[in-house]
Amino acid sequence: MLAAIIERPHHLELRRVPVPDIKPDEALVKVAASGICGTDLHIYEGQFISRYPLVAGHEFAGIIVKTGAEVEGFAPGDMVACDPSIYCEHCYYCLRNRQNHCENWQALGVTRWGGFAEYVAVPKQCLHKVKSCSLPEAAFIEPLACVVWGLEQARPELGDQVLIYGAGAIGLLHLQMALRTGTSAVTVVDKRTDRLELASRLGAARTVPADGHEDHTLKELAPRGFSLVIDATGVPAVVEKALGQVQNAGKLLIFGVCPQQARISISPYEIYRRDLKIIGSFAIRKTFAQAVDLMESGAVDVLPLIGRTLPLTGLPDALEEMAAGKAPMKLQVQMGE
Ligand SMILES: [Zn+2]
Ligand SMILES: [Zn+2]
Repeated sequence: MLAAIIERPHHLELRRVPVPDIKPDEALVKVAASGICGTDLHIYEGQFISRYPLVAGHEFAGIIVKTGAEVEGFAPGDMVACDPSIYCEHCYYCLRNRQNHCENWQALGVTRWGGFAEYVAVPKQCLHKVKSCSLPEAAFIEPLACVVWGLEQARPELGDQVLIYGAGAIGLLHLQMALRTGTSAVTVVDKRTDRLELASRLGAARTVPADGHEDHTLKELAPRGFSLVIDATGVPAVVEKALGQVQNAGKLLIFGVCPQQARISISPYEIYRRDLKIIGSFAIRKTFAQAVDLMESGAVDVLPLIGRTLPLTGLPDALEEMAAGKAPMKLQVQMGE
């Protein structure tokens, strides 16, 4: 099979390798669609926990071609989305239902070979059948599951005014989900007008260009600030000023992935005096099945979030394009027949 193998940081090779053998509790999945995520870029650049050589890709969906003897309820021909997270279920955190902090955490496309290959060996607990959405849509279930976990923690309340920084694929998933939770209005900030237009089409009440005057514009729109502010940029300077847009007793959800060494300056007095809550959200904690339901019911519209599709052979250029900050929305690898 063809696989995109990161041999070491910054060295990606497209090579023919044997189709993976499956264990009795695994299924062999023929990948149909595999989204490229910022995390893939971090792995490519050597900035994550991965060991090499590695096939990245943790947002993928495909068709089962073979099942191990211990896999029940799935058969060749089933369309599946794959939860990349593999939990041990017996460590300190797993026993307390905090599986995303599993001390033996593994993930397809992060610590094990993932979806940038024609076939992937997938443990049975990672398989989720999809029936009423397409496989390119199913490849969005993983990022949606991350968004669901973030919002489960941030818990928007009925009537809340929400502000989202960043109108990339993640910001626009947050937008659509926030609208589903009974919030009164969602405002979206981004540098790019094409993204803001898409945000409007997907239901944003207001869009604000990040043109250097956005703080002022937002203060005019919401003098007291917003009940929930979500950062979906991963830019430390944005997170720093996002806190100033949270109204008293409101919440800031830090969702975008900032560089590990980055630091920001905040006032502890302000957090105390204004009753603020700062919330983090890492990956997925058993929210994949919910995301399958949301995708299958049409709760979110993800096809407009695809900036471009490409064959597996286009992955090296796509990663360089993302590294240069030039990628349009979500890039998705789609395999031919
Ligand atoms: Zn991702
Ligand atoms: Zn564990």
